[in-house]
Amino acid sequence: MDAVAEGRDRAKPTIVGDGQHEGAWRVSAWLQALPRITADACLAGVARLVVVSPHPDDEVLGCGGLMAEAGLRGLPVHVVSVTDGEACYADDPRWPPAHTRAVRRAELRAALNVLSGKVPVTVATLDLGDGRIGAGQLALVARIAGELRTGDRVLTTWRHDGHPDHEATARATADAAGRVGASLQEFPVWGWHWLDPTAASPPFADAYAVRLSAQAVASKARALDCFVSQRAGGHATPILPPHVIARFSRDFEVLLP
Ligand SMILES: [Zn+2]
Repeated sequence: MDAVAEGRDRAKPTIVGDGQHEGAWRVSAWLQALPRITADACLAGVARLVVVSPHPDDEVLGCGGLMAEAGLRGLPVHVVSVTDGEACYADDPRWPPAHTRAVRRAELRAALNVLSGKVPVTVATLDLGDGRIGAGQLALVARIAGELRTGDRVLTTWRHDGHPDHEATARATADAAGRVGASLQEFPVWGWHWLDPTAASPPFADAYAVRLSAQAVASKARALDCFVSQRAGGHATPILPPHVIARFSRDFEVLLP
């Protein structure tokens, strides 16, 4: 997930403070009114699910439940991990980038093992530089395209998520998916922090929610437990404190076409 560091583009929207609490989302009229589909309907006709993730944990936060559902159905799942999130504690001398990178790669592998079904979830690590994804957009498109096949169902972060790395990853993934003939959908991560639960209408067109089984919800929770360095107890100022985890413990996930 990774916080937006000082010096990054702080233009719209501003990611500060605790953000929206899950209690507000539970009573959000527009969120509760989104069309709901089953995981079976969502995964019908999918040969392979590919998740392109800017930082280790974004893939589980945004669509870990759907990855678990795919695993339960024996569908192959491939994760493209664009950065290792090595700059997440850049101001903390106890977390130099090389150490952080190793820790977060191991945490991601452990989380994907939890979500694996009959076929293990595979992962490609691109190591393109936490916080600097947008700087090499053309190279990123080529690297992502190299991981995709025609006919893949590709998921990535929302192109208006509010974090520069999330938005750059979305733009590059859209280009890459178009290049190889794969379908693309996006999921909010930081959006749940700053979007308005009381808005009169949804902030995105044609969004829908995928219902998750209790088994998938439980697997997602166990996968999120693997990101120890991001959780309370793993750092004095964790990226994923309990009130953030609450936003990713729902029995549905929202996808944007
Ligand atoms: Zn992120």
